Formats: sequence, C-alpha cells, structure tokens
Amino acid sequence: MKVSLLDHTDEPELTVASAARLCYSKSTPTELKNGLTQKEAARLIRMIYELGHLSVFEHASFTFGVEGISRVASHQLVRHRIASYSQQSQRYVNISGSENFVVPKTIKESRLSDKVEEFLGRASELYEELLREGVPAEDARFILPQAVTTNIVVTMNARELHHFFQLRLCRRAQWEIREMAARMLFEVVKVAPTLFEKAGPSCYSRKRCSEGSMTCGKKIKSQEEIFIENGLHIDTGNQ
Ligand SMILES: Cc1cc2nc3c(=O)[nH]c(=O)nc-3n(C[C@H](O)[C@H](O)[C@H](O)COP(=O)(O)OP(=O)(O)OC[C@H]3O[C@@H](n4cnc5c(N)ncnc54)[C@H](O)[C@@H]3O)c2cc1C
Repeated sequence: MKVSLLDHTDEPELTVASAARLCYSKSTPTELKNGLTQKEAARLIRMIYELGHLSVFEHASFTFGVEGISRVASHQLVRHRIASYSQQSQRYVNISGSENFVVPKTIKESRLSDKVEEFLGRASELYEELLREGVPAEDARFILPQAVTTNIVVTMNARELHHFFQLRLCRRAQWEIREMAARMLFEVVKVAPTLFEKAGPSCYSRKRCSEGSMTCGKKIKSQEEIFIENGLHIDTGNQ
C-alpha cells in the first residue's frame, strides 16, 4: 500500500493554537495567529490536549491519498464517520488483473497459497469474461473477492485522527488498517509534530489499555515502536 499526505491546513499548529487562545482573548483571530511563536503554539497545544478540550483540534484538516488497500481495509476505514471520502468506483473502473489483490502474509506462507493465487486468477478471468459478455461492471464486480484493491482519498481533522489512531493503531486492530493508520501517523507527525505527539493507541496516548480482558498485554511506549512494527523508516528528527 501507499499512503501520501496530499494536503493539509496551512500552518496546522498555529491555526489550532490561535483558535485555543481566542477563547480567552480580546484580540482578533488574525492578530492572535500573527503574534504566535511555534514555541507558544506548542505550549498551548499540550495544555489543550491535557485538558481534553479537543474541539480546537478540529480546525486542522489532513487529506491522504491511499493506494492499493483491499476492500476489507477500506470498509473498516469508512466506518469512521467524521471524515470525507472519495473512492475509486467499481462501476466505472475496470479493475481486472491478478496483481489487483491484497494477499495477507499468513496466506502467502500457508500451504494453500498456490490454490489462493489460482482462485484469485480465476476470479479475475471470470470478471473479464463477464465484461466481454456485456455484463455491466457494476454487476460483474459481484464475483470479486474482498481482497480486491482500491484507491481512496480521505480527509480527517486532527481530533478525528487522534480518535482513529487510538482505535486503529492498537495491536488488536486488523493488520492492514493498522499499517494504513501507521503510515498516516508517519505523515502527519512530519508536518504537525506537537499536534500528534500523543497520537497512538490508548496504551500510548492515555497510558492505559481500553481493551479490558482482550488486552494484548504489551504496552506501546513510543510512536517509533509503531513505525518499526509497520516497516516504516524512522527519521529520528521527528521523534
Ligand atoms: C478492533 C476493532 C474491532 C471492530 N470490530 C467490529 C465488529 O466486529 N463489527 C462492527 O460492526 N464494527 C467493528 N468495529 C468498528 C467500530 O465499531 C466502529 O464502527 C469504528 O471503529 C468507528 O468508530 P467510531 O464510531 O468511534 O468512530 P467515528 O465514526 O469516527 O466517530 C467518532 C466519534 O464521533 C461520535 N459519533 C459519531 N457518529 C455518532 C453518532 N451517530 N451518534 C453519536 N456519536 C457519534 C462518537 O463519539 C465516535 O466515537 C471494530 C473496530 C475496531 C477498532
């Protein structure tokens, strides 16, 4: 999969911090934003996070391009309702080709991997045959497995991203959406390091597990750990 940060609010940390300061000031929004230093913005963001007044985090938005995830993962992603999505259409885009499937490592390493490959190849061929027979793509897609890949653009604000990371960076989350969330976090910490310094599963962000008896029992102590577990190269300057 590939995850890119396509766009984000200009100066996300100054925007959030000046909105926070506005609540307690007679100055105008422009005066406040122009007068803020990065250091003061960082102090305000940390204070707001600790207080839990996270509505000001909603002023910063982040747009990601996600390529090559399965429909299994995209279905989980779109359950997050405080977000905007645009997804490649299976009605208008011919998605045939056996390379267009996500195959989990556990399947690749199983003794049934050849059978699975053959099955996906057959599904792809049958899909193309249906199209050649004149069956519309919107109907031919019914025979495709959930492993089929998709591309999606997603926009979330920083508050929703914190919530999303809390749920989907947990070791109990499914591996593909967890990897996607790790890649999203990897991108946002580069442009808004203070805003996302506490982002992660609740064992990291809140120092306690929210999974109760289903806990994995292994606390995540740093974002670096999340990146390493998901095969991402760490630029220590960001951490
Ligand atoms: C490990 C894991 C396993 C899961 N297993 C299943 C499963 O087996 N079956 C299943 O169906 N789902 C499952 N889910 C999906 C889960 O139930 C949620 O749908 C998904 O995580 C989105 O979370 P959310 O509703 O908190 O977030 P969002 O939709 O992103 O909403 C963010 C927050 O906004 C508020 N909010 C949003 N909409 C409303 C509303 N209409 N009313 C009131 N408050 C609202 C809530 O506070 C919510 O937490 C699983 C998720 C995880 C992480």
